[in-house]
Amino acid sequence: MTDDSKGQAKFWRPQTRLVRGGTSRTGFRETSEAIIATSGYVYQSAEEAEARFKGENQGFTYSRFENPTVDMFERRMALLEGKPLARATASGMAAVTAALMCQLRAGDHVVASKALFGSCRYIVEDLLPRYGIPSTLVDGRDTDAFRKAMRPATRAVFLESPANPTLDIVDIAAVAAIAHEAGARLVVDNVFATPLLQHPGELGADIVVYSATKHIDGQGRCLGGVILGDEAFVLEELKPFLRNTGPTLSPFNAWVLLKALETLPLRVDAHCRSAATVADFLAEHESVTRVLYPGRRDHPQHDLAMAQMSAGGSVVTFEVKGGKAGAFRLLNGLGLIDISNNLGDAKSLITHPATTTHQRLSPEARAELGISDAMVRLSVGLEDVEDLKDDLAQALRRLG
Ligand SMILES: *Cc1c(COP(=O)(O)O)cnc(C)c1O
Repeated sequence: MTDDSKGQAKFWRPQTRLVRGGTSRTGFRETSEAIIATSGYVYQSAEEAEARFKGENQGFTYSRFENPTVDMFERRMALLEGKPLARATASGMAAVTAALMCQLRAGDHVVASKALFGSCRYIVEDLLPRYGIPSTLVDGRDTDAFRKAMRPATRAVFLESPANPTLDIVDIAAVAAIAHEAGARLVVDNVFATPLLQHPGELGADIVVYSATKHIDGQGRCLGGVILGDEAFVLEELKPFLRNTGPTLSPFNAWVLLKALETLPLRVDAHCRSAATVADFLAEHESVTRVLYPGRRDHPQHDLAMAQMSAGGSVVTFEVKGGKAGAFRLLNGLGLIDISNNLGDAKSLITHPATTTHQRLSPEARAELGISDAMVRLSVGLEDVEDLKDDLAQALRRLG
């Protein structure tokens, strides 16, 4: 395989990087990237195998840790994010787990924002402490709370912004400064903002993680994850962890994600425009009591959101009249929008966080995060926005 960017990729604008960045071609000179479905690789001689294992010649040895199709996806992601290196994983949770576990050891301490994707909260709150790595959860909207939570042993700060499902915003640059002052690294889960709307690396994040399952695939076809960082972190800490534990992305799924990157800006732009329209429509509706959308002026952290994001994103969270019964009546009354806990999909999906994604939390913990029984989270898809508004209008009418 040969690199087809001829070293030019770093001079390309983002859209060109997403179509052509990282592309390698086999001897067939295919236009579309090849799926190299293989677990292993063969050598011309015993000497070549020895040299490959010593790292004296370039090439692949085993697909648990390197594969040409996965490599293309990683290089395209690194070009997009502007971080030197990327490593792909089988899911977003594999990415979060590896990004944290590979750099921590017993005795270290972690600070994280409270409003996290459910499984991320499990990793920080339940899993890490079992291995002697205590964690402190803070209100991510309160920058000072991060400062107060730092200890001499704090090695990593982890956050998500906007956060699921309340779309709380964390001041990434301020938290990065606090982390660095204390000698800790900042790890940002940038799923809700997508790699296009927010660049945590430019705001000071050391490590950026994605569930590629969401907007990167964006078409509900496969799971995947990515971790991005500098060379010292990726090569010295992350690579041995991934290589030896094996949360590997399959070549086929890497290919799905690689091809999806070609259309990511077109899709994210359409998601954001429709989400903004739907948010405004909901805000005017008499059966809707509250709308949370970072792109709207009435979002409590609108100014901060717009300072670090270029658009409001694809998710709109809102509350309806009638509490849980009202929310359930809305969900059950929808004819087009599907009830599903996924997000960032071409299909619009709606969920009731209190009884699904956040049902594991106690009612007190939900209240603390501002997740009420009347709250629903809508991931706005790529359908005609007028059909989405019609569907919401007819279902909201049932609430009286
Ligand atoms: C979905 C999601 C994850 C986990 O990703 P998977 O691909 O489902 O493992 C992590 N963080 C956030 C913010 C997510 O939305």
